[in-house]
Amino acid sequence: MKTDAASFRSPANSTVPGSAGELAGENDEEPPSPAVCLENVVPLPEITPRLKSKVSVFPASRSRPVSNLKANAFRRAFFPAVTDKEWNDWQWQIRHRIRHIDPLERMLKLSEAERAAIEMIQSRLPVGITPYFMSLLSKEDSNDPLRRTVVPTTAEFVTTPGEAEDPLSEDSMSPVPGLVHRYPDRVLLLVLDFCSTYCRYCTRSRVVGHGAIYPSRSRLERAIEYIRSTPTVRDVLISGGDPLTLNDERLNWLLSRLREIPHVEILRIGTKIPAVLPQRITPNLVRMLRRHHPLWMSLHFTHPAECTPEAYRACERLANAGIPLGSQSVLLKGINDNVETMKALCHHLLRMRVRPYYIYQCDPITGSGHFRTPVEKGLEIIRGLRGFTSGYAVPTYVIDAPGGGGKIPLMPNYVEGRDGDMLLLRNYCDRQYRYPDVVGA
Ligand code: SF4
Repeated sequence: MKTDAASFRSPANSTVPGSAGELAGENDEEPPSPAVCLENVVPLPEITPRLKSKVSVFPASRSRPVSNLKANAFRRAFFPAVTDKEWNDWQWQIRHRIRHIDPLERMLKLSEAERAAIEMIQSRLPVGITPYFMSLLSKEDSNDPLRRTVVPTTAEFVTTPGEAEDPLSEDSMSPVPGLVHRYPDRVLLLVLDFCSTYCRYCTRSRVVGHGAIYPSRSRLERAIEYIRSTPTVRDVLISGGDPLTLNDERLNWLLSRLREIPHVEILRIGTKIPAVLPQRITPNLVRMLRRHHPLWMSLHFTHPAECTPEAYRACERLANAGIPLGSQSVLLKGINDNVETMKALCHHLLRMRVRPYYIYQCDPITGSGHFRTPVEKGLEIIRGLRGFTSGYAVPTYVIDAPGGGGKIPLMPNYVEGRDGDMLLLRNYCDRQYRYPDVVGA
């Protein structure tokens, strides 16, 4: 999970645990009337036929289907004896994750680059894909966007200049094992290193999935004690790995212990679960979570094809429990690096009651060159969103500064200079405006 503090490596063992913003600070004004400058507007079709073939558009309403058609067909083909109850049981999904070459070979027509990578993977970020998420992948097309996010290729073994195992220097900012303190008023608590599905571009691929961070009570107690004795900490971000792979009881214990600390104002959970394992968002889970308000969630959606009826229902349950939801997306070459795809994703998110929060420039982790876009691509996407859609649908584009400098927001340049007391501004449809801004007034 991409989070806003850093990581650490604990000594420890290796079993699968738990068994298995600030808003962008941008205004949300409507753009000027179309009559103002329509002649300069590049038309941006909301969903083109190409995108439509990969994405469904659901009303956020009762008329939504219960499950997506791809999942149903996948189940019939590969898990014909599995009941609805089993399929919708998150622990069944975790137990039946696809992790090895044989099932992958049966379920996907693997390319040479995929097959070779799976055979080479060993000590690196493992493969793990829930049956539900596997059902969303194209069987034939190795360039399918979702497939590229979870199935490795040999490109992962190519290191390009500037890449590092820990480019954000997270390991050096950990006062106690499993806790990272980078920013003054908040900490990142890494609960475990397990995820139900592993993203090939994961910032913490150096630790995630290796069984190095285990959610033992003794380790978590040390982290809790650090927070208790550090009164400047008002915000605790619980991440990993994916903390929602812990069972309700363990998660409830942790949230309760943190809630006992008077200076902790808010708790946040970073999770990709609604996208890869929406079955985890059960009525019991949300009943437990709502006892720990104010509790926020940073979700992680990457592509509109993740916005299935199941994901809609999961987000709806969380939102109905009063949990403010934001989504963080990593900008990925050939996956979501165009205005059309990002706009469709952000529109889905708003309908799911999730605020598009950040677009991250992909961190220079080792072997991620095939995912990284030029920064200009991210700026182009922001330029194509700002003014052309609701302000709430425009995330903040950020680079997490290598070396641990924190998030730095990037914006297209809308300020062109001054003319005396006039500020020269360029609007979303490329027209210049003058704003009276008297220096020293
Ligand atoms: S879900 Fe897991 S693998 Fe994916 S980005 Fe988050 S921590 Fe990394």
